[in-house]
Amino acid sequence: MLIGCIADDLTGATDLGVTLAREGLSVTQVNGVPDDALQIPAADAVVVALKSRTNPPEDAVAWSLAALKWLQARGAERIYFKYCSTFDSTPRGNIGPVTEALMRALHSDFAVATPAYPRNGRTVYLGHLFVGDVLLSESGMQNHPLTPMTDANLVRVLAAQTEGKVGLLSSADVEAGVDALRARCAQLRGEGYRHAILDATRDEHLLAAGEGCLDLALTTGGAGLGMGLARALAKQGRVARKGAPSRLPPLDGPGVVLSGSCSKATLGQVAAAQARYPSFELDPLKLAQGPGQVDEALAWARTRLGATPILISASAPHERVARVHDALGQARAAELVEDAFRRIATALAAAGVRTFVVAGGETSGAVVEALGVRALAIGPEIAPGVPWTAAVGGAPYRLALKSGNFGGPDFFSRAFEVLA
Ligand code: ADP
Repeated sequence: MLIGCIADDLTGATDLGVTLAREGLSVTQVNGVPDDALQIPAADAVVVALKSRTNPPEDAVAWSLAALKWLQARGAERIYFKYCSTFDSTPRGNIGPVTEALMRALHSDFAVATPAYPRNGRTVYLGHLFVGDVLLSESGMQNHPLTPMTDANLVRVLAAQTEGKVGLLSSADVEAGVDALRARCAQLRGEGYRHAILDATRDEHLLAAGEGCLDLALTTGGAGLGMGLARALAKQGRVARKGAPSRLPPLDGPGVVLSGSCSKATLGQVAAAQARYPSFELDPLKLAQGPGQVDEALAWARTRLGATPILISASAPHERVARVHDALGQARAAELVEDAFRRIATALAAAGVRTFVVAGGETSGAVVEALGVRALAIGPEIAPGVPWTAAVGGAPYRLALKSGNFGGPDFFSRAFEVLA
């Protein structure tokens, strides 16, 4: 295993997985802390998707160390800790505490960190993170309900979460070339720094950084530096394939779209799919009355499974969601809808459906859990950041898991075209 990755959330894990696959690496994603019994085929990169971004640091550390142990037992040559490209964290963590725990376990005294991904509008300059053309602290992230980012200076942000000193690898250091960058890392280390935030304002900076960091036991960042590491491995001739996986052989049987995301992008995609495919709408107020509506949806679906995909959707615009929240409360509404999708996915799988497109991060988590899918091989990309995946180790599903705002208006039909 060329890189063992630990990601702090599910869709972030897939984003990294797709980025590595694009560079030619074979990638398997594992959902949740893997147990020893989980068998997966050999892959260049394995990404363990945790749900540890906003949990207490103690939990995030324990899960990350368990993932590390599992990856090391499978021969990971180096470790990459993946977090969000907006450095989502609280003053307690979890980026700092997880990084330092991994460093201790790896006997490493220096780690480079950068969430930069210039092609996606995330740049770091003199340690300050920009989202598009504004500072992180003015990007809207300052109002995030769980991880408000009120300071764009990542050297300061990371230092508040770590015991070790945090330095800077400036864009001048990065532009000086790979050897100079390595020398600068050695210098910082000699001065007692344990971490360095790395500047990157162009994707080329990430490529230099990838080469410069290849010998470090641990590197941390967004998907961008993952690309840099993958490109450096390819340059060394360690990666057999050139470029992204071109296709994933489709499985026989009908395709089903399950949509539980109420994001703006998904609402447009659902409207487009409703014009093409037989569609059934779930209503949380009816779901609250008992199992009747799920039974109705399944009876409806069973008579329509065939060559044309079908759509079952709970997606609703903001006003309707607000009415449902007034009536049921937000948590109960979410639970009802996610539970409905769990039952629907299980019953459709029993009826022979093997191909699922799922919209919504939480909804995807519920469906994957219901289908008992522990690991996914990353296949061709449908839209930036969203690949087809093949379930590994159990029933052979094809799954496309889309977080709310990803994909263009024709995402669902495009998904089936990519698989054909
Ligand atoms: P996204 O990736 O867009 O955030 P998620 O699946 O993560 O999508 O979250 C959407 C949440 O909204 C889920 O918990 C889902 O169960 C819930 N939900 C879906 N449809 C409705 C609805 N009509 N009313 C209220 N809640 C809904």
